[in-house]
Amino acid sequence: MSISQLARTIKESPTLRLNEEARLLRERGESVIHLGIGEPKNKAPITAILASSAKLKDGDVKYAPTDGLPSLKKAIIHYTEENYGRLVAPENVIVSTGAKQSLFNIMISIVNPQDEVILLAPYWVSYPEIVKMVYGVPVVVTPEDGTFHPRMEDIEQAVSSYTRAIVLNSPNNPSGAVYSDEFLAEIVDFCERRDIYLIMDDIYHKLVFDGKRASPGYDFTKKDVENTRLIVVNGVSKVYGMTGFRIGWVVTNRKLVETMTNIQAQTTSCASVVSQAAAEGALTGVQSIVENLRLTIQNNRDVMLNELRSLSDVRVEKPGGTFYCLPDFRAYGDDSVELATLLLQRARVVVVPGSEFGMPGHLRLSFSGSVKDVIEGVERIKWALDPTAPNEIYIGDRKLVRDWL
Ligand code: PMP
Repeated sequence: MSISQLARTIKESPTLRLNEEARLLRERGESVIHLGIGEPKNKAPITAILASSAKLKDGDVKYAPTDGLPSLKKAIIHYTEENYGRLVAPENVIVSTGAKQSLFNIMISIVNPQDEVILLAPYWVSYPEIVKMVYGVPVVVTPEDGTFHPRMEDIEQAVSSYTRAIVLNSPNNPSGAVYSDEFLAEIVDFCERRDIYLIMDDIYHKLVFDGKRASPGYDFTKKDVENTRLIVVNGVSKVYGMTGFRIGWVVTNRKLVETMTNIQAQTTSCASVVSQAAAEGALTGVQSIVENLRLTIQNNRDVMLNELRSLSDVRVEKPGGTFYCLPDFRAYGDDSVELATLLLQRARVVVVPGSEFGMPGHLRLSFSGSVKDVIEGVERIKWALDPTAPNEIYIGDRKLVRDWL
């Protein structure tokens, strides 16, 4: 069987592989703690369930317009006005099957073969692969000071005549960092002046802690949506905990929406109407569920930080948002894939190696699950790695003795 050159360059999704390994272990009755998860535990909002089940009950499940149901687009326009302070037209919005497809549609619409797209490490695992899928070249910029906050001077140095876009994700998966207003002002201004698209992946934008907020990119430009270089990506997956419904969207200029609509028409036709109804139900329903989710996750974040303190050699930057942190585990080994594998095999804890996000030596730990999982997960990590921890532990009802340190 021959596989195309392009397909051969696309990496397996490490998160999905770890999920699968964890599932197989659980099937064998093993007690696995999943700190690799990228979704909250909440039930979908009742308004989402009612709206989507009404579609099913009526048997009204057909194709939707390629760019999205008009009523959902209306809800997105309202959401954009309320959260971004911008009034946009239906022609500025396209709904897709998850923010992932939104990002793919953007890249295929703006990147020529060999064009470069700048990614800021630590970056979400799928960005480089999506860029490669459209024959573009991912260019990674890593902060030299070891923080998770990009600096404009490093980005400027990476820009070339081939640079088409910069992807910015704040609050950031995997670090939880929320970029400063000063940085946002600089990068928005830079992209407007240099005619480089700034793709703002805002999928976690309301999951911000400690009374702070993630400022919308639009705050830093006077240009209207037709003329700005900002492209805003959002969706219901994270903020409403509706990952399985697969609804994301893009707000940008009409020409780009038109182009992405043509592309989507030839790939998926449209997002499922059942899911679009659910997204509309979530956006137009009671919004206190978002605040409740945010508070639960903030509490989980505090528990995670508190637990990690018992690992004195691990340094962690306090996440300002999302449901991830990215502690530095180099005290226990530079190879994060090896560490993650050891933790799964010995301690039955799933974590994601930092190398997948351009940050080797780190591990991404998710606190989107239960407090119990966070506490037990970190306890198991400590047992597996730290010689000062007691060398016996109970995993499920099995007593394990550490004999490798
Ligand atoms: N962007 C980031 C930064 C993400 O973490 C994710 C999901 N893990 C996505 C986009 C994709 O979201 P969706 O589920 O809507 O495709």
